[in-house]
Amino acid sequence: MAKPRNYSWCLHCERAAPNKDWGFKEWPRCPYPDCDGGFGDRWEWERVREVNPEYPPLPERGVAYGMYGP
Ligand SMILES: [Zn+2]
Repeated sequence: MAKPRNYSWCLHCERAAPNKDWGFKEWPRCPYPDCDGGFGDRWEWERVREVNPEYPPLPERGVAYGMYGP
């Protein structure tokens, strides 16, 4: 069962993806191939939702969610 805490958000491209796609066992990096966001760009999806409560509990793949509103 997917949960918000299983997702991370990328500061670089403002998209979110499941933690497993970030490659947590190695050096985490943004899973979107056109983005070079790295470890320091990763935020917990739950933290992004604290700032933007209107965002869905589970982010949609490929959708950019701005840190301060869509
Ligand atoms: Zn990214």
